[in-house]
Amino acid sequence: MQKLILIIEDEQPIVDILKFNLQKEGYKVIEALDGLEGVRLAQTKEPDLILLDLMLPGLDGFGVCRKVREKSNVPIIMLTARDEEVDKVLGLEMGADDYMTKPFGVRELLARVKANLRRHVVDEEVESSEIMRIGNLTIDCSRYEIVKNDVVTVAVDGDLSSVTVKNLTARSL
Ligand code: CA
Repeated sequence: MQKLILIIEDEQPIVDILKFNLQKEGYKVIEALDGLEGVRLAQTKEPDLILLDLMLPGLDGFGVCRKVREKSNVPIIMLTARDEEVDKVLGLEMGADDYMTKPFGVRELLARVKANLRRHVVDEEVESSEIMRIGNLTIDCSRYEIVKNDVVTVAVDGDLSSVTVKNLTARSL
């Protein structure tokens, strides 16, 4: 299915560049030129990912992020101007998943979009499965742990989506 991306950005030339390149990659794109409209579209259209500018009229990027997070865990990539290190950190604490500093390359942006969409899918799969029990083996996907006979606990880092029960047990126990 075609992924829907919401761009919240008040500089039309940036919106146009983002939109052109995302559409070329096969994404559906909607746009908001101010924060309040951005929140409205985020809530009504339920996009798969949001590109969010920090300095916006109406409601700034932090405000938008907070509002959106009340109802959704959609991936949010913050777009910040240069030398806003503190703002970046705040942006992440505010619930953003990633950030990019302007000016950014289109290739990098597309790679980030793809990575965040993929990570989100993995997260959702993990949430829906959570705990598996096979014999005396318990696999807690939400905590990346495997427990055998209540004794062995193993943290598995990396991409759970590609790990099967068989190679988990072979590798860890
Ligand atoms: Ca701006």
